[in-house]
Amino acid sequence: MSDSSQKLKIALAEGDGIGPEIMAACLGIFEAAGVQDHVDFVPTVMGEKVFRDGNSMGISDESIRTVEETGLVYKGPMGTPVGGGGKSINVTLRKMYGAFANVRHFQSLPGVETVYSKANIPVDFYVVRENIEDTYGGIEHRLTNDVVECKRLISAPGCDQVHREAFETAKRLGITNVHCGHKANIMKMSDGLFLERFYKIGGDYPDIETGDVIIDALCMNLVLKPQNFRMVVLPNLQGDIVSDLAAGLVGGLGFAPSANIGHHVSIFEAVHGTAPDIAGKNMANPTSLLLSGLMMLRHIGLMKHANLIENALIHTLEQGVHTGDFGEGTGKPAVGTTEFGDAIRNNLGKAPDTRDALATDGVSETISVSRAERPRHNTLMRTFETLKSVYVGCDIYLDTLLSPSELADRLQAICGPTPFELKMMSNRGTQVWPSGSVYTEIVDYYRVRFELRDLSRAPSLGQGPIIQLLDRIAEKFEVTDFQPLKYYDGKPGYSLAQGQ
Ligand code: NAD
Repeated sequence: MSDSSQKLKIALAEGDGIGPEIMAACLGIFEAAGVQDHVDFVPTVMGEKVFRDGNSMGISDESIRTVEETGLVYKGPMGTPVGGGGKSINVTLRKMYGAFANVRHFQSLPGVETVYSKANIPVDFYVVRENIEDTYGGIEHRLTNDVVECKRLISAPGCDQVHREAFETAKRLGITNVHCGHKANIMKMSDGLFLERFYKIGGDYPDIETGDVIIDALCMNLVLKPQNFRMVVLPNLQGDIVSDLAAGLVGGLGFAPSANIGHHVSIFEAVHGTAPDIAGKNMANPTSLLLSGLMMLRHIGLMKHANLIENALIHTLEQGVHTGDFGEGTGKPAVGTTEFGDAIRNNLGKAPDTRDALATDGVSETISVSRAERPRHNTLMRTFETLKSVYVGCDIYLDTLLSPSELADRLQAICGPTPFELKMMSNRGTQVWPSGSVYTEIVDYYRVRFELRDLSRAPSLGQGPIIQLLDRIAEKFEVTDFQPLKYYDGKPGYSLAQGQ
């Protein structure tokens, strides 16, 4: 297939800093392996240059069109201007196009010395991280003089997407064991939902064993026995931290490829930065970008090409060829980015010595990228469509310096003539009324909980009386936040305070 109109188009963003150098090395290897016979890389303009031209999105309009048209982006690292209105182009792309799953592969590589390679412990696992929600919504507020908040949103459809992608990836790669990492013992509702949906979606994959592990134990176990894990799926923030921990197990970010998978656009990129300290010096290591490119080739179905290149990369590393950032133990001098790329090119067709070669003969290749139709409007995702919900009260958040007992007295007087009773007050999540301890140190921000005195009235309550209660409280106090309380299918849709 050499007719350019027949080729699969992929948007190419070479990146800033070391980006152009490592991208040139990777494209050279792809060319030599015959990838460009099937793929047309379409250059785009994004990153520092675009920010400097005053575009706070960091991506030109034409490049947006290219990304939307191709649905695939191969991308080098990009700088985010410090200060000013510019947001990280990496985050913008992931969020704008709903690339909901970040998939990273961590494997020991020959020539990359780590404590595990020295101890002969093989590391080879995937982290699949939810990529949109969680604290990355960036919904933050200053609530009082002394308190700020970050809202952590977890949605059932958001969980389902990332779990299904994890199980599908595991199935495609022959991985038979997937773990969910979480903190559902503390965040019972948000991480609880993430965990619940993990097992629900996992039920559709009976050949894959499922297990879950609390995030702190996961971190310890990954360090102690990384060989016990093949794939871990995690919420966004925990996944971010665990991904870098995992990169540390295999020698650093220079060896950790990354794919951001969405229904419409998928982005394949190195996770390290633009390395301004070595940019333009032919010193950068292209391995992470190359491995990300291999994830992309496999994603589009070029399995044979990916295997050919991976065999050559491993063979090259086995020979002790390395850039300056790794390979001290090889006893060989470092080579430049270009020479590193050339060595891999020259080794195409050679097999690794220290591990089984990946198959290149008899591997069928069909380029196929499943991609949802371009939506004409925002897609509303639903998981739970039939839950019955009723209002039962509200949590009101107050900025006040009163003591718990003084505050409770005043609030009880205010809610007296309403259908609600003051049920509980907490400060920083710990109950301080009706029971509590004087040892609990408090700040200027209370949550006060009102619930119906007579819960049997809930089905006919509606929002009105709750808003009236809020009004009454707001006449006397500074309200900083308000949360209606509901039951869903007869169960409280809210957590209890510590000690309640
Ligand atoms: P960095 O990853 O660029 O550099 C940290 C250190 O690692 C430096 O010493 C650098 O020389 C080295 N390094 C990184 N990649 C290397 C490679 N491929 N080969 C050899 N050495 C390498 O991190 P930073 O200095 O914190 O960030 C620099 C810029 O990169 C910032 O503008 C930041 O916003 C951006 N950044 C972009 C991405 C991305 O595009 N995905 C990720 C992280 C940071």
